[in-house]
Amino acid sequence: MIRKTCDNCKMHSYGSNESKKWICPYCQNDISHVKAEGATNVVLFNRTTLFDKRKK
Ligand SMILES: [Zn+2]
Repeated sequence: MIRKTCDNCKMHSYGSNESKKWICPYCQNDISHVKAEGATNVVLFNRTTLFDKRKK
């Protein structure tokens, strides 16, 4: 899963494929050119951090 931040309304939208045309669901802006972030990696990192804190 990847995430893009709209350069018009600054809202985040999520998808699975960066290569296809990507329209912001909030303002209908074409954000196909915006660099995608790995949303899945961010979630996994946060979960790992929480788990480590619980163990200590
Ligand atoms: Zn937008």
